[in-house]
Amino acid sequence: MSVAAMPARELDTDVLVVGYGPVGAALAALLGGYGVRTLVIDREPDVMEHPRAIALDNEALRVLQMVGLEDAAFEKVVIPQVRMHCPYLREFARVNTTGSIDGHPKLVTFFQPQLERALRQKAEQFSSVTAQSCTELLSFSQQHDHVIADIRLPSGDRKKVRCRYLVGADGASSMVRNAIGQAFTGQTYAEDWLIVDAVNVPESMDHVEFLCDHRRPTPHMAAPGNRQRWEFMLQSGETAEDMLRDERIAELLAPWGRPDQMTIERKAVYRFHSRCATRFVNERVILAGDAAHITPPFVGQGLVAGLRDAANLGWKLAWAVQGRASPSIVESYDSERRPHARAMIRLARLMGRLVMPQSALAAMLIHGAMRAGRLFPPLRRLVDELEIKPANRFRRGLFAKFGGGSGLRSGGQFPQAFVRGPDGQIVLSDDLLGRGFSLVGFGLNPHRLLSAEMHARLQTLDVRVLCVQPRGQGAEPGCDTLEDVANGLLPTAAPRGWIALIRPDRVVMQAGPAEKIEMLLNQALSLLGSPEPSPISASLSEVLS
Ligand SMILES: Cc1cc2nc3c(=O)[nH]c(=O)nc-3n(C[C@H](O)[C@H](O)[C@H](O)COP(=O)(O)OP(=O)(O)OC[C@H]3O[C@@H](n4cnc5c(N)ncnc54)[C@H](O)[C@@H]3O)c2cc1C
Repeated sequence: MSVAAMPARELDTDVLVVGYGPVGAALAALLGGYGVRTLVIDREPDVMEHPRAIALDNEALRVLQMVGLEDAAFEKVVIPQVRMHCPYLREFARVNTTGSIDGHPKLVTFFQPQLERALRQKAEQFSSVTAQSCTELLSFSQQHDHVIADIRLPSGDRKKVRCRYLVGADGASSMVRNAIGQAFTGQTYAEDWLIVDAVNVPESMDHVEFLCDHRRPTPHMAAPGNRQRWEFMLQSGETAEDMLRDERIAELLAPWGRPDQMTIERKAVYRFHSRCATRFVNERVILAGDAAHITPPFVGQGLVAGLRDAANLGWKLAWAVQGRASPSIVESYDSERRPHARAMIRLARLMGRLVMPQSALAAMLIHGAMRAGRLFPPLRRLVDELEIKPANRFRRGLFAKFGGGSGLRSGGQFPQAFVRGPDGQIVLSDDLLGRGFSLVGFGLNPHRLLSAEMHARLQTLDVRVLCVQPRGQGAEPGCDTLEDVANGLLPTAAPRGWIALIRPDRVVMQAGPAEKIEMLLNQALSLLGSPEPSPISASLSEVLS
């Protein structure tokens, strides 16, 4: 039902998501999966067609798996390497992006409008989600336990929406961020960039290359649908208007083909920014995606960071509004996500210095140092094997620390591997963890160790209990068993005799030796706090089953 058709009294929802870009859509789809009443609005009639995000990493693909997108929901090109060229020293770095992490390729390129449509379609499959285009947030006010938003409908009429949380996924110029008075600190670059997407380019390519010429830095990459993208930095004195002319673009693309040999599909001029909000959470108003942080695209992490936001926030909102945890858990979204978003911005700025040296001398010095550094294996691994990329592991947040002894880190990502599930099919393990919390026993059946009281508590919270067994060893009676067919979990993640409590966003909430299971679970579950007495908008067990 559209919002306009709803009787006034029904303009009441658990979560109002402002902005139906990729981050708002991913969040709406996650909330829908949890059965949360969600209204998602966007002032535009349809998805944006401008050339924007093109690259996603394995973490983003894992979030999209969590959202429920099938592998074939949008096209991808798997990128085997990223090459960096200096005009004077030739190739000075080569990042190896072959292979996969946690079941997903390390780097792919994609077509953003296609992904956005797939995300919207997913969100709208859920009856608890209402999506409304051509609808703008005008203002809002926060009360003790709710937010009242004033929206303008496609008809021009205005309506009030009462929600328990308002999420500003309304992009870089976020009105929500401005309304809560959050500073957006950082820097705006001095240069403009021309982005060109072309199809049917005569010479095919399968990788990403950065032509780091200080006169005209040019990232260039392969993309799905026989597309290629170029990003050309404008020189001083060049104007957007002139650079967007077909003749000018043909001149720039001349090294790759004649204008009659390819079709220019999309073009735009942007100025890049690196900025981050000082807080992502302001009581019941929360920022996500570009509204919270924005980065130059040199490491392809803007949307990826927004998808991490959606994964981190979605379940916390669901658990808070459905009375499964204290609303205070939502606060941890800020302490978990903001430092990592900032770290990615720092990495993008560093990469910017490699891509855009200020002069020929700077290029020779910076690129020369990079090339020399590759002679030392630890330095080479930093770039070639992407060890420089900040690990998605929290210092502070909603997890309990037990200590070392396994490959698992509380506050880090639980690994994903191919496993044989209870029905004999080989699948990615996240698909068996499901949407809620899971308690995993490594080579043991956690059921056998739990007190009746803890058993009941886990049942109330819909915690899924699973056992990981080495390849070739039978299923544990009375427990859903994951057979570790590719040895990706046992003992890589944890040795036999360990247990781990995994959050719905695949973050390790607690891990430790099974003999301490009661203490470990008590410690971790206490972090969920006391729920706010409130009506549960949908039975989570119905949704999760
Ligand atoms: C050239 C370029 C290349 C990029 N490359 C990459 C890349 O390779 N990898 C990567 O991960 N990221 C990349 N990015 C970044 C990526 O495109 C963005 O991070 C991502 O699109 C942000 O998504 P979002 O949903 O947060 O915001 P947006 O997509 O901007 O969506 C915000 C939505 O909010 C709506 N809205 C705004 N105000 C209101 C209001 N008051 N009421 C209702 N609706 C409102 C808007 O209409 C819009 O639809 C790139 C960006 C650019 C420009």
